Amino acid sequence: MSETCIFCKIIKGAIPAKKIYEDEQVLAFHDIQPQTPVHALVIPKRHLASLDDLTVEDRVVAGHLLERVAHVARELGVAESGYRLIVNTREHGGQEVDHLHAHILGGRRVGPMVSR
Ligand code: AMP
Repeated sequence: MSETCIFCKIIKGAIPAKKIYEDEQVLAFHDIQPQTPVHALVIPKRHLASLDDLTVEDRVVAGHLLERVAHVARELGVAESGYRLIVNTREHGGQEVDHLHAHILGGRRVGPMVSR
């Protein structure tokens, strides 16, 4: 848990969020600035700054998080039509919040993979 991390504050309940799914290890909530009709974030509850901070000890939670992404996508009704999963990582990846998170983008066809 990081004192300054905005997503840790959401996990603690110190900042409100529109929660979609929660268990002991992960939390899913709607993105505050949706880029698509469906835009959810799925995060581990343990503070990990980025995907690059995962260690071998996080294998179980990482696998669980990915499986729960699929669950959340089904819950949000985008599994059949499809969605894009994005994990922005560090500066060049466009990561703005330094707590590992997976974006689920769906509800419409999303554009080219990389914008210049
Ligand atoms: P990234 O650029 O991958 O770090 O994405 C961070 C995402 O977090 C952005 O899409 C933001 O809109 C989203 N975000 C930031 N603060 C909040 C918040 N309080 N509740 C929900 N989503 C947030």
